[in-house]
Amino acid sequence: MHQFGSMMSTNRKTIIWIRNDLRLQDNPALATAAEAGEILPVYIWDIDSHGAWAPGAASRVWLHHGLHTFRKALAKANVPFVVRDGDSVQELRKLIAETGADRVVWNRRYEPALRATDERVKKALAEDGVEVQDFPGNLLFEPWTVETRAGDPYKVFTPFWRTCLNGEEPLPPFTAPATMQAFADVPESLTVDDLDLLPHGEDDWDRSLIRHWEVGERAAWDRFQEFLDDAVAEYDEDRDLPGIDGTSLMSPYLQFGEISVRRMWSAVRALSPKSDYHQKSIDRYLAELGWREFAHHLLYHFPETTDQPLRKEFEDFPWSNDLVELEHWQQGKTGYPIVDAGMRQLWREGWMHNRVRMIVASFLTKDLLIPWQMGARWFWDTLVDANLANNTLGWQWTAGCGADAAPYFRIFNPVTQGQRYDPDGSYVREYVPELKELEGVEVHEPWLRIVPELYVNGNGQYPDPMVEHSLARNRALMAYDRIKK
Ligand SMILES: Cc1cc2nc3c(=O)[nH]c(=O)nc-3n(C[C@H](O)[C@H](O)[C@H](O)COP(=O)(O)OP(=O)(O)OC[C@H]3O[C@@H](n4cnc5c(N)ncnc54)[C@H](O)[C@@H]3O)c2cc1C
Repeated sequence: MHQFGSMMSTNRKTIIWIRNDLRLQDNPALATAAEAGEILPVYIWDIDSHGAWAPGAASRVWLHHGLHTFRKALAKANVPFVVRDGDSVQELRKLIAETGADRVVWNRRYEPALRATDERVKKALAEDGVEVQDFPGNLLFEPWTVETRAGDPYKVFTPFWRTCLNGEEPLPPFTAPATMQAFADVPESLTVDDLDLLPHGEDDWDRSLIRHWEVGERAAWDRFQEFLDDAVAEYDEDRDLPGIDGTSLMSPYLQFGEISVRRMWSAVRALSPKSDYHQKSIDRYLAELGWREFAHHLLYHFPETTDQPLRKEFEDFPWSNDLVELEHWQQGKTGYPIVDAGMRQLWREGWMHNRVRMIVASFLTKDLLIPWQMGARWFWDTLVDANLANNTLGWQWTAGCGADAAPYFRIFNPVTQGQRYDPDGSYVREYVPELKELEGVEVHEPWLRIVPELYVNGNGQYPDPMVEHSLARNRALMAYDRIKK
């Protein structure tokens, strides 16, 4: 029996409302329901429930494959997976009427619109006399449990994380149910394909994107084991180098709940560090999971920050809404190699290295003065790990208007960032083939090497820089001065 206890009586008929938790391991809603009787896992594609932040194109691609994989995992245990399309309240009510289920359970979510949906469902089902139970399944610490001495939410990471670490250990993960008993009568279900989640364009974008990934719980765990065996020991330094596989690539798996953060936490804690540096790397990795917690806690307490700056003075920032410049950035045609490599990696793989996310976000919001919300939207549509909490924090942090944000005057220089973090130029050459003949660090300043067949200044394969960084930097600082006053 786990810490939530069994559901006491057995032979309950429980609908498990699956959302961003496509997993059997450490799925408290599933484990608790399976222990108590018959179960029916259900997924409802309720596009309106997401408010203004319905899943973007890349997320839908992952979801399509993730639902298929999860359905197969359940089928192996002889458990059907019912898929529906429509309003969550209506579909759950129909399912209860069709099956005689007496309870609905789920793992909590923290996005503002989705929380409102869950509340609406709770209220409706309570009116119908149906029991509802929700579980903490997707974070290490629930947002209302970590606060300052004054009882406020933290807005600075270091004290936030210290408080988390000094508090109770996160709950241990649940093991997958050893046996599961499905409802005897299975209600009608759509197929995953019926949800029509894949794009209809002529190009091969979604297929080539998903080729970079293996979707599903099994793949998530294998990849994580590989990271723990090979890379976590060097994480402290390697995590900043986009040219090598130095990070865990867990972000899309976490987003769709194909792995739980508690399971990751407990696996990392069980490692035996072989040196002080190894320990430092482990602590650094745990702290990154801490940033994920911080982001979710912030979103919970400041739900308006998906669209509005946390620091109110930034509401008057003199942004530029130049859509042509935005498009150059989106297409990876800014003329700054590290920025273009990042934007092309995003398009090709649905993912971008964290260091490069910071560089491209700084370039958009500071060199081009384009509002962070426009960058956040593009990321939202193109990232397979698009996550409202992490994306909001990442963009507000880089733009200087969020919690614990970088001081505004720290404006990344895209050339020196490239030279420092991609010193052999391998990352740029991977994604910007026009520059593949340039060797080593020179790839970051192609304008110094005007070799006609490789790089034709202004009129050739690779564009001139769209802005001169030092001028753009001064313009950004002047813009900031206006709101400081
Ligand atoms: C502008 C911008 C936008 C971002 N948008 C997203 C997003 O939509 N979804 C997303 O998951 N992350 C986002 N991040 C955070 C970070 O870039 C990714 O989590 C990370 O690159 C994922 O790769 P990984 O799993 O290999 O990370 P690892 O370095 O292996 O870290 C492990 C996990 O820790 C968490 N994590 C790491 N860094 C951060 C961070 N800075 N903030 C919050 N959590 C973190 C993630 O869950 C990540 O999977 C964004 C960062 C920036 C600067």
